Amino acid sequence: MKCRICGKKPVIYMPHHRLALCKEDFISWFERYTDRTIKEFSMFSPEDRILVAVSGGKDSLALWHVLRKLGYEADGFYLHLGIGGYSERSRNKVESFAKNLGAKVIVVDLREEIADIPQLERLTSREACSVCGLVKRYNFNRVAKEHGYNVVVTGHNLDDEASSLLANVINWNIKYLGRKFPVLEEEEGFVKKAKPFCKFSEKETALYALLNGIDFIEEECPFSEDASSIFYKEILNSIEEKFPGTKMRFYLEYLRKMYPRFREEEERTLQPCKVCGEPSPSEICPVCRLKERIAAKRT
Ligand code: SF4
Ligand code: ZN
Repeated sequence: MKCRICGKKPVIYMPHHRLALCKEDFISWFERYTDRTIKEFSMFSPEDRILVAVSGGKDSLALWHVLRKLGYEADGFYLHLGIGGYSERSRNKVESFAKNLGAKVIVVDLREEIADIPQLERLTSREACSVCGLVKRYNFNRVAKEHGYNVVVTGHNLDDEASSLLANVINWNIKYLGRKFPVLEEEEGFVKKAKPFCKFSEKETALYALLNGIDFIEEECPFSEDASSIFYKEILNSIEEKFPGTKMRFYLEYLRKMYPRFREEEERTLQPCKVCGEPSPSEICPVCRLKERIAAKRT
């Protein structure tokens, strides 16, 4: 097999694109493809103030790297989740990456805001990832507005998107399906959100990060072992092995054929939370309710 562009030895073969590329051509293809996805979904333009939610992992750091390289003035946001040594090590990765990039990173410590994830898990008896998702979404939006950013971008890749789609289709979670799109416009107290890596597989983002010498945290969050998303990813990977291209088709055909239908059904009424002012489905938002419970426990 040879690189389709220059004929050199390839570093990757992407069956869903029927494309083999060498190191240099893969890097430039990856960057062009990111920009094409940004434009295809009208995610943002160089005039926007972009905040990249970074975890220290390969996807979010690679995304930040690509955006800056493409000329977008993107800053980083790191939410310290208080998950022991894992959070400390990922914070260090983010801070040194920001320094090398010459970019600004905003750090918020969840332990000062409310409580760490292990405590929130115990308090709510919800899966750690579910409460973590809630506080992350809340803080991404709140911090972006507070610092004057109008778009929040995350490093979700095709594997993330296809596996969460599968989980929500299996459970016919219509509410979720009506909001499953790589870009969500600004509305009622929410800034715009975008996922420019939604068409890259995990293997592609990992390779891009490695080839660019990005120093990301390789260890997984200790809670990820119990995460149901891992199980759905494994199922999709075994289907993909037998029928290459399934993952991409499943996701893209959903966006094209099904999303418009579910979107019509998705109706949500939000109001500003009486405590913090963030958009909320009830008088007091779920995060402020969590804060009240934590405060009551401490007194
Ligand atoms: Fe949060 Fe779960 Fe991800 Fe850990 S694995 S960072 S708990 S969502
Ligand atoms: Zn609130």
